[in-house]
Amino acid sequence: MSARIISGTEIREQILDEIGKEVEQIKRQHGVVPGLVTILIGQNAASVSYVTLKAKTADRLGFNEIQENLPDTVSEEQLLNLVCKYNRDDSIHGILVQLPLPAHINEKKVIYAIDPDKDVDGFHPLNMGRVMLGGSEMKFPPCTPAGIQEMIMRAGIQTDGAEVVVVGRSNIVGKPIANMLMQKGKGANSTVTVVHTGSRNIENHCRRADILIVAAGVPGLVKSEWIKPGACVIDVGVNRVGEKISLKTGKMIPVLRGDVDFETAKDIAGAITPVPGGVGPMTITMLMKNTLASLKYRIGLL
Ligand code: NAP
Repeated sequence: MSARIISGTEIREQILDEIGKEVEQIKRQHGVVPGLVTILIGQNAASVSYVTLKAKTADRLGFNEIQENLPDTVSEEQLLNLVCKYNRDDSIHGILVQLPLPAHINEKKVIYAIDPDKDVDGFHPLNMGRVMLGGSEMKFPPCTPAGIQEMIMRAGIQTDGAEVVVVGRSNIVGKPIANMLMQKGKGANSTVTVVHTGSRNIENHCRRADILIVAAGVPGLVKSEWIKPGACVIDVGVNRVGEKISLKTGKMIPVLRGDVDFETAKDIAGAITPVPGGVGPMTITMLMKNTLASLKYRIGLL
């Protein structure tokens, strides 16, 4: 039997609709809208396309959206000054610095400079620490893990008491999603195992999972034999494995593959996310949700 496909594209539309309605209501009642600034350094093709999509989505939702596109010759001091300018700007509720940064700029220094109350990416150590504490302490969950949790909940997958296995322990995906799913509360309360390159018998761990979350960055790493029949499989991997001509635009576009061997996995899993169209669309959606939340904290609605 073929697995149910959990579509991030469909769930994104539901959530963006909800956010759009809330933005309108807050604007009517309080006369303010969420403000998001995206800061892009250089012209890396993937970064340009991510930032463009973020800005477009913010625009569609009626946010006050500002784009700062700087050349890759910008100094660390200039970038830090720009971040400080938006830290002080009351019309801005979210500051997003698109990563990675050029080698001459210290990424950590820049992330630490963002006001934690405007850190809608959730990468500042204070917000990372809040994820660890969980519950109402958590202010801005990092966007990809937040998107994964939201997808699991909206797809009606039971997390309470579920065996969850996370492949990968990065700061932006593996560690936070593991923390979020082990918390006591809705959409969580799971028993979580995290595996990585130091783990032995990864496939045995994976085979125990009711929910298997894969964020390794290795195309096709997880085979169907690693999956428990009926499990929910969330494939976070976005790997560029080649290029093809787009039938729509005639331009070259990347061929993307996930970390799970989708074609064989879908015959074993109960539910599975595709790549593209799975976790990817959720990340930007949760960035919008965090920016709206930031405004709500500011005006006392949260
Ligand atoms: P990362 O920082 O490179 O971390 C990869 C993790 O996977 C590491 O912990 C690594 O273990 C582990 N790993 C690598 N190969 C493995 C193997 N063969 N067996 C077991 N563990 C292995 O990557 P990331 O930033 O978390 O991203 C992971 C993937 O998700 C990438 O494809 C990325 O493009 C994608 N991603 C997608 C989104 C989205 O919006 N959809 C967002 C973020 C990331 P060690 O720690 O031992 O090295």
